[in-house]
Amino acid sequence: MIKDQLEEVRENIRRACARAGRNPDEVTLIAVSKTKPVPMLEEAYDAGARDFGENKVQELVAKEPQLPEDIRWHMIGHLQRNKVHQVLGKAVLIHSVDSLRLAEQIEADAAKKGLDVDILLEVNVAREESKFGFFLEEVEDAVRTISAFPHVHIRGLMTIAPFVENPEENREIFKKLYQFAVDIGRKNIDNVTMDVLSMGMTGDYQVAVEEGATMVRVGTGIFGAR
Ligand SMILES: *Cc1c(COP(=O)(O)O)cnc(C)c1O
Repeated sequence: MIKDQLEEVRENIRRACARAGRNPDEVTLIAVSKTKPVPMLEEAYDAGARDFGENKVQELVAKEPQLPEDIRWHMIGHLQRNKVHQVLGKAVLIHSVDSLRLAEQIEADAAKKGLDVDILLEVNVAREESKFGFFLEEVEDAVRTISAFPHVHIRGLMTIAPFVENPEENREIFKKLYQFAVDIGRKNIDNVTMDVLSMGMTGDYQVAVEEGATMVRVGTGIFGAR
């Protein structure tokens, strides 16, 4: 049952927080509902889930009107520039800003609609060829450029760690991104905060929480295999 799975994930987050001396209130669990039908999302909603993550614009905008209004929708997948206008005003946070051109498009569309948009920069920490995102050494320049965009607000960083059998293998990646976010935060760049660290999925969210994640994106662990 989704309710039980959700409770198990929450309990694991609480335990990871306890191990790391963190307050569980600092960690937001995002239920990644991609490919799953609306009744399953309703079940998660009834069990208390309010943050849902989708990786496709089409799916997000199709599901959003069918579910309660107090849900916070997170755009977590690669976003094409011609679809940006569809998610603005629907997603509370775009986790997957992986290029300057995408950020420019968000600024242009947000200006047109008179909206403010919170984003995270996606970082390809492990430099995997198959993944989107900035390399670590590109992030500071990107942050400084985007900080000048009046309608776009950087709130932190996101990463998708490699697929590994043993989540311990990703610990260094999470540590690295955490430290990097702290360092950038200390630079006090106008219009930029580094409060959000979106990292950790079903296979590795407990390690991510131990290493400072403030948002974890869990799909399979809540809704079952896709
Ligand atoms: C699918 C997806 C997740 C969730 O993956 P699970 O392994 O099912 O928990 C998290 N983040 C992103 C960006 C995804 O696309």
